[in-house]
Amino acid sequence: MSERRRSAGTSGPAAPSADEPKERARFTKIMSEPVPIPEAAIERAVTVLRSGRLFRYGEDTGGEGEAASFERAFAGFVGRRHAVAINSCGCALFLAMKALGVTPGDKVLCSGFTLAPVPGAISHIGAEHVLVDVTERLTVDLLDLEEKAVQSGAKLLILSHMRGHVHGLDAVATLCHRLGVAIIEDCAHTLGARWDGCPVGSFGAIACYSSQTFKHINSGEGGILATDDDALAAKAIMLSGSYMMYAQNGTCPPEEVFAPIRDATPNYSMRMSNLVAAVLRPQLDQLDGWIARWNDAYRRIEAGLKTIPHIDPIPRDPRDAFVGSSIQFLAEPGLAPEIAAAFVDEAAAHGVYIKWFGADRTAGFTSRYDQWRHLADSRRLSGADRVLPRLMDMRIAVSFTPEDCRTIVTVLAEAMDAATKGQRG
Ligand SMILES: *Cc1c(COP(=O)(O)O)cnc(C)c1O
Repeated sequence: MSERRRSAGTSGPAAPSADEPKERARFTKIMSEPVPIPEAAIERAVTVLRSGRLFRYGEDTGGEGEAASFERAFAGFVGRRHAVAINSCGCALFLAMKALGVTPGDKVLCSGFTLAPVPGAISHIGAEHVLVDVTERLTVDLLDLEEKAVQSGAKLLILSHMRGHVHGLDAVATLCHRLGVAIIEDCAHTLGARWDGCPVGSFGAIACYSSQTFKHINSGEGGILATDDDALAAKAIMLSGSYMMYAQNGTCPPEEVFAPIRDATPNYSMRMSNLVAAVLRPQLDQLDGWIARWNDAYRRIEAGLKTIPHIDPIPRDPRDAFVGSSIQFLAEPGLAPEIAAAFVDEAAAHGVYIKWFGADRTAGFTSRYDQWRHLADSRRLSGADRVLPRLMDMRIAVSFTPEDCRTIVTVLAEAMDAATKGQRG
């Protein structure tokens, strides 16, 4: 690119004069490009379609079905004994709470920074939300967690590793153990991530994952529940709707675990189909490669963001071996909302889409606790109130090349330049 473009965003030469408009960089790829469906997955899906056996259970299935094979492969991937394939992560969270015995009116602690399906799952049960505050690093505020747990008497925490920011899991687990609070880990953005060497999702009683298109494996809709506990797995299998064919689950607990529940558990019809499972299983083989690409792009973009004035990427704990499928950064305290808004608009006009949690109205996939007016808990969260208005969030596609990352950073640098100049002018 031209000399002019290279000097963009630095405090180099004076701005070009009005009759010599500056050539701005533009990102032309689609930022929300999903992870590609591998050819092997397409072939498997076609085979399932030809067989007509899209429903996972049957009296005579002719061998292990795709859903069961996927469950075994998934449990192996995340290092848990059991996996149950569900129709979404929101439903997996609902079933996890049901399996743990949550009933209407119970209090459930929930990260104040999470996506709308999480409070949605709590509402689905008819339980009562107790929102827990977040820190500047988008992780749970341990003091607030302890205070809210003691105050409310809640015995369960849904811990969302929102946008892949892994909470200090040893500290959260130690505190929850002391308080007698069980943990469901919401791993929608942390499939493949590790905390201090252990797979994220192995700290709670149950972990829930998503295969919605913009997570780490893609089947449009889908969810997986994972646990080491035989009784919880059996309960989840029955609740998901296995009829009396629960033994066809890919990681089925022993028959005697089902004896007390088989005739006393409702069927919520929240299964994954064989077609969805066929699309997913080959993606597990690709995931390590995709994670390496996401993280390479993340590090390049993160380094670039550090050179742009007024914004800073959120620092990560060295124990957080995250998956960089998106990046979050904060506007500096005191940056005028008009400049932040102009920055977002300028970037979008040049092909880089940023989700800003500080906009007047939540839009798209942004999700803010004060937007959930269906909740009974209307207390403010002071930490979230400090951080969310400054929070910006950008998707990273697995296909981004080093050149793409450079272009994105240039677009953002030029957008900030234009936004701040516009303000002065
Ligand atoms: C996407 C997401 C969910 C919900 O997943 P679905 O499969 O769409 O129900 C839950 N929690 C978090 C943090 C998410 O990002």
